Amino acid sequence: MSRQAPDPCELEAKKDALIATARRCFDRGLQTNAGGNLSVRLASAEAIVIKPSGVGFAECTRDNLQVAHLDGHLDPSPFKPSKDLDFHADLYRIRPDINAIVHCHSPWATGYASAGMEIPCLTVQTIEKIGRMPLIPLSANGGPQTDVEISPVFRDTSVRAAVLANHGTIGVGKTLMAAQYLAEIIEETAHIAFVRDTLMAAHGKTHADLPKYGTAMDAAAAAE
Ligand SMILES: [Zn+2]
Repeated sequence: MSRQAPDPCELEAKKDALIATARRCFDRGLQTNAGGNLSVRLASAEAIVIKPSGVGFAECTRDNLQVAHLDGHLDPSPFKPSKDLDFHADLYRIRPDINAIVHCHSPWATGYASAGMEIPCLTVQTIEKIGRMPLIPLSANGGPQTDVEISPVFRDTSVRAAVLANHGTIGVGKTLMAAQYLAEIIEETAHIAFVRDTLMAAHGKTHADLPKYGTAMDAAAAAE
């Protein structure tokens, strides 16, 4: 079977977009060291561009990014494929609406995940942009989550973000920037939730003291 080679112009443009997104993620402190991973779907072949193992978000270049085909074939590369490749590839297989994935170990969100707590969608923006962020437990052997744990959650096409216990976060989108925005909103929301809950505990407030909130559409409907 002949495997389709990606269009070189598209490949170059997608690599450059991935490099820019990875740089933004690193600059915002959402991913340091060589952990996490991000990828983008190619339109000209049944394949994705993905960061290899052992390369930091700030060190991605056109030369070290890999092309992985959704049938499992990896184009020749001197770099080791990421441990996350399988779950990225499977999400693209099961969700045609996903064109990009940003997976990072951002600290505030990963703190919630490591405490076994779902991050509450407590701002109007999180309700509108994300809706909910399911918490995905570790794999049965206590290891990091794989497609076995992650794919079933994302089969629900309304899921755009998830948090991985003791691990990190996943944001998916139609573009790399859309997935990156979700990674940022997840982290921002975890930070806000921590501040809210700390202040409420310090001042003896309970959730019953909080106002109800919803989307702009809810507010417009209520005003009619
Ligand atoms: Zn990870």
